Amino acid sequence: MSMRIDIATLFPDMCRQVLDESILGRAARKGLIETHCHQIRDYTLNRQKQVDDYPYGGGCGMVMNAQPIYDCCQAILAQFEEQGRPRPHIVFMTAAGQPYTEQVARELAAQDGLILVCGHYEGMDERVIEELADREISIGDYVLTGGELAALVVADSVLRLQPGVLAEPQGYQEESHWNGLLEYPQYTRPEEWRGRKVPGVLLSGHHGNIDAWRAKMSLERTKQRRPDLYEKLPDELKKV
Ligand code: SAM
Repeated sequence: MSMRIDIATLFPDMCRQVLDESILGRAARKGLIETHCHQIRDYTLNRQKQVDDYPYGGGCGMVMNAQPIYDCCQAILAQFEEQGRPRPHIVFMTAAGQPYTEQVARELAAQDGLILVCGHYEGMDERVIEELADREISIGDYVLTGGELAALVVADSVLRLQPGVLAEPQGYQEESHWNGLLEYPQYTRPEEWRGRKVPGVLLSGHHGNIDAWRAKMSLERTKQRRPDLYEKLPDELKKV
């Protein structure tokens, strides 16, 4: 069965629009992946459909109530069960979560399904996170207005790793961050643009030399731009 990702959010249309476009949209239409977006507000129990309230202890902003988030996730879990799928991994998008990396994307890509829960306003009542979360993920050391962009980053980076989603099988293994390196520079036609020439080796047709040049550029780039990543490389990769 193809991987299924569900996003629980106050802005399902925003998420839907992104997931239905381009590579992910095509993959879903071919049945290679399955994506769903759910409106948390549909699960409120009050007539005003209010999903947030003032924070206990005071402070600015509003906090999302636990109940509609919990009930929304329960409804999604029931759908997974109806499909005969295992329980999906539940991930809360939070600025205080585990930093997101390609390694985490690979771990999540090995799951049958994911529920990505998006907060808004000042965040979510901590108790629903304690109750449901398998993990909390932050996509970076900055604060977004809501979890939707973060959930879409996770969904995109995980779904592109599913078989058949990318045109080139295993194409993602040659890209930045797969093996701890940044990718070498890429060029396409024309051979010269605004006086800038494509490196001659790439036009040589000599695959051994091209591979060696790319490996060298990849290593140099990583060393210059991301010394933190370079330091973590195994010694045999640093020797290229
Ligand atoms: N008060 C929270 C704090 O200081 O950690 C920030 C709340 S933020 C304005 C609203 C929502 O955006 C969060 O509940 C979370 O879902 C999402 N969010 C914000 N920054 C994020 C990040 N770096 N990674 C993942 N989600 C983020």
